[in-house]
Amino acid sequence: MNVLVYDAHSYDRQFLDAANQGRHTFDYTTSQLDLQTATLAQGHAAVCCFVNDDASAPVLERLAGLGVRCIVLRCTGFNNVDLEAAKKLGITVMRVAFYSPYAVAEHAVALLQTLNRRTHRAYNRTREFNFRLGGLLGRDIHGSTVGVVGTGKIGVAFASIMKGFGCTLLGYDAAENPACLALGMTYRTLDALLPEADIVSLHVPLLPTTRHLINAKTLSLMKPGAFLINTSRGGLVDTEAVIEALRQERLGGVGLDVYEEEDGLFFQDLSDRMVGDDVLARLMMFPNVLITGHQAFFTQEAVTTIAETTLQNLDDFAAGRGNDNVLTR
Ligand code: NAD
Repeated sequence: MNVLVYDAHSYDRQFLDAANQGRHTFDYTTSQLDLQTATLAQGHAAVCCFVNDDASAPVLERLAGLGVRCIVLRCTGFNNVDLEAAKKLGITVMRVAFYSPYAVAEHAVALLQTLNRRTHRAYNRTREFNFRLGGLLGRDIHGSTVGVVGTGKIGVAFASIMKGFGCTLLGYDAAENPACLALGMTYRTLDALLPEADIVSLHVPLLPTTRHLINAKTLSLMKPGAFLINTSRGGLVDTEAVIEALRQERLGGVGLDVYEEEDGLFFQDLSDRMVGDDVLARLMMFPNVLITGHQAFFTQEAVTTIAETTLQNLDDFAAGRGNDNVLTR
């Protein structure tokens, strides 16, 4: 099958080619999918997309008109795809429902501990032979209460690491996860979890019901000095409200791997350009904010599984087989 890979970086090519072994013909474009770049899909039965590709209804209509019958997402989240429109147009959408949840959970812990122990500042200081400790004071994570918002695959991996640190685990989810209960987690409503947690880590998907789950009201419920970590999707957090809470020194630190307006910014080198995003610029001004560019998934193991699963999805689609990764067909 001819497959056009959108938003392709060198590592996408490396891992997809290695997994492909000549089964399908891949063409790669660095362009993200949108209404204009959809025309590049001419002559391809399938397209392969990532988190910030635009698969809204008008784009899907254009793809369908060009003969595209399948979209394989090389990610778990699918908030950027209009599934209803895809179904109406007869486009099969498949994702990578499962790949190393440890990659994302471990990155959430990395954000937390970098913020807490200021290792990013220490790294810069010691390279200049500045070994003073002022400004590097952290706290023990042992004995803290951790609020895990979303206790699915990544949430339970995160909870299990935090249990190892010696934390008390609180959870918020639409459904209780037996694996979390086995770790000793106690479930709460979000409003009851937030005032108790020293650390809040977000692991729910972005849905209309979870958009701006962290907003001025929920931020006001958080324990003063708490850490907020978001490795899920930027839209879970009202960034302006977070900036206000930071300005009022109500949060201990904010670690973000995702940002509401990351589309057009993340996954690119913009270091020699003016970036006109004032919200991001204001966020970066706070010394207790740490941002990474949607890299939580980016481990050898996770990227290998993403590539292999994407190939399996293409094989199954070509053979007319369904599998657990099908979102709509
Ligand atoms: P999952 O489906 O295993 O878990 C999600 C959990 O959220 C489930 O337990 C579900 O019951 C709960 N949930 C859903 N809607 C809810 C609601 N309205 N209220 C309360 N709970 C709700 O998903 P996962 O594999 O753990 O992934 C979680 C998210 O992490 C993904 O949706 C994706 O957005 C994000 N993610 C980010 C990266 C990254 O690189 N930063 C990588 C992979 C996934």
